[in-house]
Amino acid sequence: MRMNFTAHTRLLTLLGDPVSHSRSPKIQNIAFEAAGVDGVYVALQCKEEDLTNLMLGIARCQGGGNITLPHKQNAAAIVEVATEAVLKTGACNTFWGDEKGRIQGDNTDVDGFRSALNFFMGTPLSGIRVLLLGGGGAARASLLGLIEEGADEVVVFNRTPERARAMSRRIGGEKTRVIPSLDKVEREDFDLVVNTTSLGLEEYDSLPIDLERLGCVGAAMDLVYGGVLTPFVRSAEALGIPATDGAEMLVQQGAASFERWWGKSAPIEAMRAAMKTSSVGLS
Ligand code: NAP
Repeated sequence: MRMNFTAHTRLLTLLGDPVSHSRSPKIQNIAFEAAGVDGVYVALQCKEEDLTNLMLGIARCQGGGNITLPHKQNAAAIVEVATEAVLKTGACNTFWGDEKGRIQGDNTDVDGFRSALNFFMGTPLSGIRVLLLGGGGAARASLLGLIEEGADEVVVFNRTPERARAMSRRIGGEKTRVIPSLDKVEREDFDLVVNTTSLGLEEYDSLPIDLERLGCVGAAMDLVYGGVLTPFVRSAEALGIPATDGAEMLVQQGAASFERWWGKSAPIEAMRAAMKTSSVGLS
């Protein structure tokens, strides 16, 4: 364990509520050590009313960090210089202070999703037809990622259709179609089905979809991850559909955050290894 912290050691934090199960401190501290950067990453449980002051104070001291549930949307309103990903998704998961003392913000869930999807699919994604399940923050990052990768059509289903419609208006434009019920895509073929709902986090959750109701499905990606294969991944694999969970996306969004903070490439293999050996939890 590293002990040689100095007066120059930079502070990076995870701000959220709760944060106790997060894997990010382990992944990032291993990454800092592997890359030889002088930083320390800690998780701080943070109430909504303290978010602005914490982000400001940490950024003004040249620090930064990640933002997790339930603060990603509030953080987007707090950052002073926002990337396109923050502006389009309305969410910020990464912040840092710049040389002028301003809080910069990005949403690396978008790049993390794109990198994980490319890693999984291994072929160009332009022209693909996708069924996207969900309408929350992870769905917005995924939808933007799919549009940026050149998906031809993204059909969206969410339990609360109005949330999906608002997301589609904001991000997807003509490339998205929101359906009120999964009956509307019965027997239809998709190159990819993505689960961005939180179904699968809890042991007795129902499946986000019965994949047998669809036609031919090329691949399935779950944003949920845990110590074992998620129910959605298991159900896809049982039908012979190549599938992956959200572990690679967690590593990739963390790698993109690392690159924003340090301006150098992240040690991705060390981060993957840290992810594999850490305990169950959210980002
Ligand atoms: P969120 O904003 O709270 O959205 C939750 C989503 O799940 C909404 O679409 C919600 O539908 C749906 N949902 C929740 N309970 C449901 C139920 N019983 N039946 C049907 N739908 C249900 O959360 P989020 O930030 O999008 O995160 C969603 C998941 O993605 C979480 O499991 C999170 O861990 C994961 N995630 C993973 C990564 C990664 O790096 N791998 C990154 C971000 C998020 P309604 O809109 O109808 O409520």
